This record gives sequence, C-alpha cells and structure tokens, in this order.
Amino acid sequence: MFRKVHLKLTVLCAGITAAVMIIMSLCYLYISEKSLNKNQFSAFVNDINNITVSMERQSVISMEWLSKMEANGNYILFVIDNGIPFLYNRLVDSGEFFSRAALLDEIIDNRYTNSADSAQIQAHLAETQSSVQSRIYSFTSAVTGEKYLTGIIDMGKNSSLEVIVLFSLNTLKKQMLEQRVLFLFIDIAAIIALTAFSWIFTGRLLKPIMENQQKQIQFIASASHELRTPLAVILATQECCQNASTEKLDGFLNTIHREVLHMSSLVDDMLTLSGSDSNRFSINVQTVEPDTLIINSYEAFEPLAREKSITLSARLPETPLPSCQADPQRIRQVISILIQNAISYTPEGGKIELSLSYIKKHFHICVKDNGIGISDENKEKIFDRFYRIEKSRSSKEHFGLGLSIAYEIVQAHNGSITVSDAEGGGSIFTVIL
Ligand code: ADP
Repeated sequence: MFRKVHLKLTVLCAGITAAVMIIMSLCYLYISEKSLNKNQFSAFVNDINNITVSMERQSVISMEWLSKMEANGNYILFVIDNGIPFLYNRLVDSGEFFSRAALLDEIIDNRYTNSADSAQIQAHLAETQSSVQSRIYSFTSAVTGEKYLTGIIDMGKNSSLEVIVLFSLNTLKKQMLEQRVLFLFIDIAAIIALTAFSWIFTGRLLKPIMENQQKQIQFIASASHELRTPLAVILATQECCQNASTEKLDGFLNTIHREVLHMSSLVDDMLTLSGSDSNRFSINVQTVEPDTLIINSYEAFEPLAREKSITLSARLPETPLPSCQADPQRIRQVISILIQNAISYTPEGGKIELSLSYIKKHFHICVKDNGIGISDENKEKIFDRFYRIEKSRSSKEHFGLGLSIAYEIVQAHNGSITVSDAEGGGSIFTVIL
C-alpha cells in the first residue's frame, strides 16, 4: 500500500513542479523569441536607413560598393533602374545556391501583395534633407524556401532607382531552434532530477508514517497476545467452576478475580499509551515541589521494599529547591514505575536509592538499584512497548509497558529519561525535567 502511495506522491510532486517549469520555459521562450524578432526588425530598419544614406552619397553605384554592402550586412541587394534590374544582379547570379534572377522576379511579382505583414516606414534623412520612401516586410521565398526581411527603397523624385534589400532570417531561426533544443534538454534533465528528488523526499516523509504503522501493528499483536493469556485462564477456571465443590469454588473465583485485575491493569496501560499516540495525553501542569514528590513516593514504596528485604532510601539536596512546573500525578507515576521496577529486579537484601538534585536549572530524579542490571544491548530497547528482557518474561505482573509509559510522560514534559549502569552492578534511571 505504501509503495503505491509513495509512487503516487512522487508523480504528483514531480508532475506539478515539472508542469510549472515547462510553463515557465514556454513563457520565457515566447518572450525571448518575440524580443529577438523585434530587435532584428529594428536593426533591419536602421540598416535600411544607413543604406539609403550611403546610396544618396554615391554619385555612381559601383559593383565593389554593392558587394561590400552585401558582405558587411549579410544582405542580398538588388538595384533596379527605371524598372530594369541593375547589371550587378546579373553578374553575381552565379547560380551556385539559387537563381538570384528568379528570386528577384519573385520579389518584383509580389512586392505590392505583401502588405499583410509589412511595415511602411518613412525614412527622414536629416543630412540630405530629402525624403525617401521605404517599405519593409517579411516574406518567405518559394525559390529559396527561406524567410527574409525585405526592404524596398524608392530613392524618390530625383532618381529612378529602386533598391531591394533582403536579409535572411535563417540565422535567427537557427538561433531560436538552438534555444528551444537547449530548453528541451534542460527541462528533461530537470524533470529527471525532480522525479528522483521527489522519490527521495516523499520516501522520507512517509518513513515515520510507515514506522508508526509498523509499531501499531506490533502493538496490537503484542496486546492481543498479552490479553489472550488471562482470558484463557478465566475461561478454563470458569469451566472448572461449573463442577467444583463449594470449598474449591472460592479458589477458582479468586483466580478469576486476579486475572480480571491483571487484564484491567493491562488495559489501563494500553489506554494511557494510546492516549499519548493520539495526542490526547492530558498533562495537568501545576507548580510542584519536587522534594515533596520524592518523599511521597518513598513513603508509598518503603513498606513494599521492606517486605522484600530491600533497603529503600531517599536523598534530597540540603539547600532549598525551587518549585517545578509539572503534572504531579504523572511525575509520581513515572517515579512509581521506576521504583516498582527497581524492587522487581533487585534481589533480597539489595539497595535502592531515590535521589533528587538540581543542576543547571534542571531537576534530576534518579532511581539507583544494585539489582540484576541491564545489558548495553537492551538499554535502548527497554523503552519500547511490550519489550521485556528474557529474565522478566515469565513474570505475570510485567507487561513491558511501564518504561514506555514513563518515557511518554517525560516526553510530554519536554524532559528526558535515560538508563546507565550503577557502580558495582545494577542500574540508574535518570529523569531530567
Ligand atoms: P515491565 O512491566 O516488564 O517491568 P518495563 O517497560 O517497566 O516493563 O521494563 C522493561 C524491561 O526493562 C523489563 O522487562 C526489565 O527486563 C527491564 N528493567 C526495567 N527496569 C529494570 C531494572 N531496574 N533493573 C533491571 N532491569 C530492568
């Protein structure tokens, strides 16, 4: 299921960003091509003016001058005198690439019909004080297959000369094509990179959800397993009750009662944890005297420890401590879990020390025992739900939920809980608030 979601999210992420990128590229290409065309047109209008000025200055139009002009501006120039093409046109008509004569004929035939995309300009030539008529339009030749900017200069009243200037737009077209290909490659590369990035990014986003789902599955499996045992005992005992004598019935009912209490405590723990998962974990923050909490916990567990021949002691700082902002019930629950564990995993004659210190504006609550200790490998795992170290698995009062509840409570207080080895054996659990 997650693979499908991962794939869909990747396609969605990459798709949206790629679409935005393609639209932006198209917009850029449109604007850039439009401005290239515009610039080219303005440059051509300037060139037509220059040619006009230059022509006005020539008393004789020589072939050198014409070929120089053609070479300088990459033009094709035709000069028509009194309706008859100038000699130059015939001389340079080498027929290598196309017939100049055919091209000229085509222009002459179409010069008045090409008005749709033409621009009439009036070249006012300040230097000569003369007024020359020029007509500029773009035109696609059937002879060469190329598109040209065409300028027809009519030298005016004093002259019978007409000059036709052609500028091939092929280079510009090639430049635009190159730009389009470049953008295509950039876009393809970016789409590939975006897809890879989206795959990694969405994978990272989904990872905690996947882990959480895995944990939920594990939690439900472990909870069902834990609940099955007392249920099986209750069912079996209830069957026994049916044929049991009055003396035995009490014993069976006691067993059922004990198992129900066991289940009830397990269900309470599970509810606490599910509350923390759905952020319904209520923390009732109040001003708390931490030393009072320690003393209360000590008093509550001292008789139980004594019963197990374990010495429970409490150590508080000699100087008065500031108060703390915390949920007293929840913090007491954490201390109880730690003391209960210490009592459970410390053999008779052992020692448990409950202590409180105030270091760098943080309260350190420590529960130290000299019991069986916890191996390094298990230190990280004991805060996991339903995790129990092998030795404690057989015990019925332990579900492996105590430390995970303590962890969630401390987390809700923005604190930390850690475990380390005590000197000479045993463990130290430290809660920092
Ligand atoms: P449990 O209800 O089984 O005690 P916890 O979550 O409180 O569950 O503890 C997880 C496991 O950590 C226990 O099963 C036990 O093996 C180990 N443990 C916890 N506290 C101690 C301790 N003080 N000394 C040794 N082992 C401990």
